[in-house]
Amino acid sequence: MEKKIQMTTPLVEMDGDEMTRILWKMIKDELILPFVDLKAEYYDLGLVHRDETRDQVTIDSAEATKKYGVAVKCATITPNHQRMDEYKLHEMWKSPNGTIRSMLDGTVFRAPIIIDSIKPAVKNWEKPITIARHAYGDVYKSVEIRADEAGVAKLVFDGESGKHEEVVIHNFKGAGVLQGMHNTDKSIRSFAHACFKYAVDTKQDLWFSTKDTISKKYDAQFKIIFHEVFEEYKEQFEKLGLEFFYTLIDDAVARVIRSKGGYIWACKNYDGDVMSDMVSTAFGSLAMMTSVLVSPDGKYEYEAAHGTVTRHYYKYLKGEETSTNPMATIFAWSGALRKRGEMDGLKDLENFGNQLEAACFDTLNEGIVTKDLVALMEGVKPTAVNSLDFIKAIRQRLEKRLA
Ligand code: NAP
Ligand code: MG
Repeated sequence: MEKKIQMTTPLVEMDGDEMTRILWKMIKDELILPFVDLKAEYYDLGLVHRDETRDQVTIDSAEATKKYGVAVKCATITPNHQRMDEYKLHEMWKSPNGTIRSMLDGTVFRAPIIIDSIKPAVKNWEKPITIARHAYGDVYKSVEIRADEAGVAKLVFDGESGKHEEVVIHNFKGAGVLQGMHNTDKSIRSFAHACFKYAVDTKQDLWFSTKDTISKKYDAQFKIIFHEVFEEYKEQFEKLGLEFFYTLIDDAVARVIRSKGGYIWACKNYDGDVMSDMVSTAFGSLAMMTSVLVSPDGKYEYEAAHGTVTRHYYKYLKGEETSTNPMATIFAWSGALRKRGEMDGLKDLENFGNQLEAACFDTLNEGIVTKDLVALMEGVKPTAVNSLDFIKAIRQRLEKRLA
């Protein structure tokens, strides 16, 4: 390497917690800083600093993402009661991912990293299936009543104009349960834009599914909005030879299982919650799952789908060697740098993202792996190494590729 790869716009760097914070530094030291003249605006979202800043740092990092357009994020702790004691927190701060997602009005896309020697549980899957989950409303923002006697349940809407609508949900003859949920056109529209944008970006077909045959107003509105928004992307889709495919959720499930993969599956909130766990498990490992937050106006935040791997961190603190898989975090960096390169017209930076990923595949294909992958591999004899040795093995191959 004569000269480091140059950048023009800073990348928003969000540091995090526990084992992934340790990996973060290794990845930067071994795989980024020796090759790239890194321009980054650094935000420390580690729980200690979030508490010191009363979570202002999370808000600032989201603002910076809006300003510059691309962020890379390390996994962070979402505090619970146990963390309150452990870190002596002033408050039980909200999930940073939740805060950033709502500030960017973003949609999360989760995709597996696929290698030949790890076969998905569904044998015809050849390419990744990316799940886009609508992260607003429905049952996650619902209200519920336990009706403990006979009575009438109604759905009521009082419009600002004075309009009044009322329908009977059910005449209860005895005890039962009821639930009221909502969504907004605005949120559904943002979701649709993020999905079509990401499909164009990654040159993949977009599937969308609801149950509009049963839910003739609620789910039907999702379908209507997606078809409306698609009009704005139709030309781009045609140019790229992409398809927008709408079908019922149950039909989608059957088709997904029979498919070869290689598309984005946009899901309503609950469907996305359930299906993303099914799809990611079927592809093999949570440690090999990437996640990208995309806003409707095209801002991107890249991260691993897994958490801070607490169990490994406690071992690390005791001085024990750990073999935590850094793949998804490395792919967050490669994805973010490639996107920065694309946006700024920097071919070398874009190429660096690709070569870094290729060097990871070289390493895994030669059988050098972290412990979690050993039991999953077929056809190559895997040798498990610790995290740092794994990252160093990737570095050797990256140096060769960039020479
Ligand atoms: P986790 O960190 O994803 O880890 C759960 C288990 O999955 C680990 O104990 C490990 O299994 C395995 N695993 C996950 N990632 C791995 C990797 N890269 N390499 C090897 N094994 C890996 O989930 P968690 O333990 O439920 O949560 C820990 C913390 O992360 C929590 O404080 C939570 O709030 C936070 N979290 C953050 C995010 C985010 O920032 N996006 C997402 C989820 C959770 P073994 O122990 O069996 O080896
Ligand atoms: Mg879930």
